[in-house]
Formats: sequence, C-alpha cells, structure tokens
Amino acid sequence: MENPPVTESVDLERMQRRLDEIMSIGRTEDGGVTRLAYSKEESTAFDFVRSELDDSIEIRTDSLGNLYASPDLESAETTLVGSHLDSVYNGGRLDGALGVVVAMEAIDVLETGETSTAAPPTLAVFRGEESARFGCHTIGSRGALGMLTVEDFSRTDQNDVPLWLAMQRDGHQPSDLSEPMLDLSRIRRFYETHIEQGRVLVESGDDLGIVTSIRAPVRYNVTVEGAYDHSGATPMGLRADALAAAGELITAVERVASDTDDVVATVGDITARDGAINKVCGEVAFPLDIRSDEVPSRDEVERGIFDEFSRITDKRDVSVSKAEIDRSDPVSLSESAIEELTGAASVTDAEYLQLPSGGGHDAMNFQQAGIPTGMLFVPSVRGISHSPKEETYPESIRSAAIATAQVLSTPDT
Ligand SMILES: [Zn+2]
Repeated sequence: MENPPVTESVDLERMQRRLDEIMSIGRTEDGGVTRLAYSKEESTAFDFVRSELDDSIEIRTDSLGNLYASPDLESAETTLVGSHLDSVYNGGRLDGALGVVVAMEAIDVLETGETSTAAPPTLAVFRGEESARFGCHTIGSRGALGMLTVEDFSRTDQNDVPLWLAMQRDGHQPSDLSEPMLDLSRIRRFYETHIEQGRVLVESGDDLGIVTSIRAPVRYNVTVEGAYDHSGATPMGLRADALAAAGELITAVERVASDTDDVVATVGDITARDGAINKVCGEVAFPLDIRSDEVPSRDEVERGIFDEFSRITDKRDVSVSKAEIDRSDPVSLSESAIEELTGAASVTDAEYLQLPSGGGHDAMNFQQAGIPTGMLFVPSVRGISHSPKEETYPESIRSAAIATAQVLSTPDT
C-alpha cells in the first residue's frame, strides 16, 4: 500500500529553532561558529540533540562518541540518516548541523504520523567530520566503519594534543578500531543532507540537489628551493628566486586544470620561508589539492601540472620537491539511493537537479563500506560555505526534510 505524503507534517519552525540553538553553541563574535572535533562545544551540541529526542527513542553512544537514536535500536534492519555537528574555525550554521536537524525532523514526523516505515530509521550523528582541528577528516564515521588508522590517532592539533588524548579527555575510550563498530548487515541505506558548498544550485535555480558522486583529492606539500640573495646587490640575471618561481608554478596549476571540464586544482596557501622585503627568497612551500570524480582525468591533470613544474624549474634554475599527503578515490553514490531520493524529491514542490559533490562527507565512507548511500544538497546562497555568511533558503530546508521522511517511509522494491 502506498503511504500518504508527509508534506504537511514537516515543521520548518522547529527545524529553524534547533538550528539556532545549535548555532548558539560555539558562536563567534562575527556571527560564525567554532565547534571543533572533540571540543567541549561539539559535546554540548551532542547533548542538545539528545535533549530534543522523544522519550520513546532509544539512544546509544559508541566508544568514539558517535550518537545513534532510533525507535528500535535492535531491529533486524534500519536506515541510517544524519550528519555531523563539528565545524571549521569560524564556520557557518548549516554545515553538518542542517543534516542532523533534517534527520531529526524526518524521524519526528514518521514517529508521530500515520506513515509506516520500511525499517525503523536511526538518527546517526558523527564526531569530528571536519579536518580543521586534527588535519584528518570524518573521524567518527570512519571509526564507526572500521576505517580509522593508528596514524589518525596520533595526529595532533595546533596545541600538540593528539587525537587519542582529545577523545579520552572528552570521556571516550576507543577500542578495537580495525572492525566496524556498527553491525553493517542491519543497515540498508545511509542518507545525509548537507549544504552544497558550491554554486551549482544557486546558478541553476534549483531548490534541491541529488548527489551522484563525491569528488576526491590527491594532495601534495610542494617545496620550491632556489637561493637566498640580497635584493639590492644581486642582478636580475643571477637569481634563483623561489618565490617568483612559485608564482609561475601556481598559475600553471590554474592553467592546466582550466583546460578540463571536470578537474579542479587549487593552491590555497603559501609560505615564503625566512622571507623579507630586502631578500631574494630561497625557499617557498605551498599545498596542492587536485580533485575530480574521475580518477583518469585527475591523473592526467596531475601529470600535466608536474610536466609544467619540470619545465618552469629547469628554466629558472630552482628545484621543486613534492610530498604526497593524500590520495583518495572518488565515490559514486548508489544508483538505487539516487533513484529513491529522486522519487522522494518529486513529492515536494522543489525543483531538483543531480550533481556531483565537490567536498568530502561522512556519506562517502558508508558508500565505500558497501552500504547504498544517498545525499541531498540544499543551495549555498552566493556559493558561500565554511564562513559565517553560509546560508540557504527556508523552502529548501523544508523540502529536504520532506524528501528525507519520504525515503524513510518508502518500502523496499
Ligand atoms: Zn560538513
């Protein structure tokens, strides 16, 4: 039997209130939020979510501090739905929190309504999704899925506190992490709603996005070495200027990636070591981030960039070395989950579009663990994210909650 649509029961005001309350935890002076992985603020946000759950909901916290809540935590099957509550430094109010609030709303609507669910849904809220504090991403979801490594635990924050110690200080005792902490055989799907963090939806004018794949980066730390010299005493023709060379290398990165449709390459930072106004700079370091949802085209851009690096450094008499720090595989999300979300989006009034995700999310780990996974995006107003100015449209929040409640109520076909 077909379930009635859940459109009427979704309560936008309740979602806005929950977003505001989460926003007030770790709020910064200029209207952003700092709620870092395994910080007091992140824990307080988890406490808030617990306090909002109905008495009929069973709650479990695993040894990493991830939260699971369901009408029946022991059911033979479940669909997980959720996101994260940590943020970058001075981030926005929607990254992570929106996915949690939308999931809570969908579960509330299904619990109190007439709609039957295919399997009792489980709210899943993960710790430490952002790499802002420890330099490693999706800590909670990778831990839950048995994907965390020993190296991850020894990563330190800017005060040299290692991840394992931050976890302990927050009251968690992670144990045997080589195995998933979740019983994967119970989980039929994972769904996550997130703010897009790009401009595709605002430019197309759609209210909702259905994510087809998640782009993955290859990342390097690049060092350019030339020679330090006096800026007044060294003729232009006798210099090995590492900073001027870096300028040329960085524009080469931009040029090579601009020749493609589906690869993006970025140098987001630069350090001129021991630089000064009266010196020719002898050593420069910068990071390089190349992403695509297709490995062959990403490989081609990577080769193209390094060919240009060789050409430029030969010409300029400087040397370049590069240390690879990440090589992740792009993830194609489940066809069946995409189909279910597309069907659910058509129940809402929203205009929707399929698109790839530029950023990484907890969802990619679930798909990699073999669980059919789907993601919904709401538009980023002016494309802004990881900023106090991050915003979306109320109607998109409402549509995301309706679509999420709808997929949770859709029986298996
Ligand atoms: Zn996020």
